[in-house]
Amino acid sequence: MVSELEVAIIGAGAAGLSAANLLARSNINFAIYDIADEKSLKENSHSAHNFLSRDRSRKSEMLLESRADLLKYGIEVRQETASEIVRFAGNITVNFKSGHRIKTKKLIIAVGSELDENKLFSIPGSRDMWAKSFFHCPFCDAYEFNNKTLGLLYGGVNDLNYLKLVSQWSSKLVYFSHGEQVDPAIESFLYKMNKSNLVVTDIIREFVHEGGLVKSAETAGMQSVPVDAMFTIGVRYVDNPLIRKLGIQMSETRFSQMSIPLTDPIGKTSDPNIFIVGDAKSLLSSIPQSAHEGYVAASAIVFDLIGERVAS
Ligand SMILES: Cc1cc2nc3c(=O)[nH]c(=O)nc-3n(C[C@H](O)[C@H](O)[C@H](O)COP(=O)(O)OP(=O)(O)OC[C@H]3O[C@@H](n4cnc5c(N)ncnc54)[C@H](O)[C@@H]3O)c2cc1C
Repeated sequence: MVSELEVAIIGAGAAGLSAANLLARSNINFAIYDIADEKSLKENSHSAHNFLSRDRSRKSEMLLESRADLLKYGIEVRQETASEIVRFAGNITVNFKSGHRIKTKKLIIAVGSELDENKLFSIPGSRDMWAKSFFHCPFCDAYEFNNKTLGLLYGGVNDLNYLKLVSQWSSKLVYFSHGEQVDPAIESFLYKMNKSNLVVTDIIREFVHEGGLVKSAETAGMQSVPVDAMFTIGVRYVDNPLIRKLGIQMSETRFSQMSIPLTDPIGKTSDPNIFIVGDAKSLLSSIPQSAHEGYVAASAIVFDLIGERVAS
């Protein structure tokens, strides 16, 4: 039998769980689905810095507690992988890998973003360093490396602004162009900031690290450059087929060659019954922002459902 819901949420990260909490407390008939079980949640966790009262937590701790909160309302995150969303004559059907299928009036897509690991981790050592001493978001992770030597790995046209941002945490900077041409404005910024700052144009052969904590970048020309942490804005993403195949309006992004879903400020897409929230539309934003977007979309949906009920 196909379940019929008022709302379905795909993805139980900060965005999906925040939406779920509001819907549960609004007596909405909904379900929330996620690929991840509790074990895989813990394995892929990183810090939850900047989220009110969660600054010292891991993201997984916060998500597990949110799942437990939902249980109080009789809602359990169902372990299912959404494989296809079909829109037909105002109806939405979601097909899951398991063969399970649901129909829903409204859909919240909160599937996050997926890193292009082949590109991001092409330099040996970088994979082990990710989220320990190799980061993309200085707001999230630079504080722990205040006044240390920070390496910036080439990421593209936004590198100068990114360098300026990272300099908020340390004036000891090394820019690694990794074989790419260096913008002269980067060199002059680094020189003005601190005369001993470096620009390394050579290809990085490998990062030397201890348990993920980087010690140095070793170049093809046999230079060994000591660094305490690496940052890059050059994070690439894998296009999400679930969203791409929806046929909704998309928009270009500055940070990646892929396009992302176009939504209004409450997360509504060009299909008024489909909302997209969190990293799935913002590409690696933050936990507070994703939670906020989930909350806003869910509350807008409650208003929509009341409006439809009153009109019918
Ligand atoms: C290394 C690193 C460090 C970070 N540090 C911080 C920090 O300190 N503070 C901060 O605020 N932010 C930080 N962030 C960013 C933050 O983690 C994200 O912005 C936030 O978690 C996004 O939440 P989300 O709910 O949109 O997506 P996610 O948390 O990615 O959740 C998406 C969920 O959707 C599920 N899913 C995906 N596809 C499907 C499918 N087909 N069917 C069912 N389920 C599916 C996934 O299993 C996942 O659980 C960091 C990010 C990284 C990578």
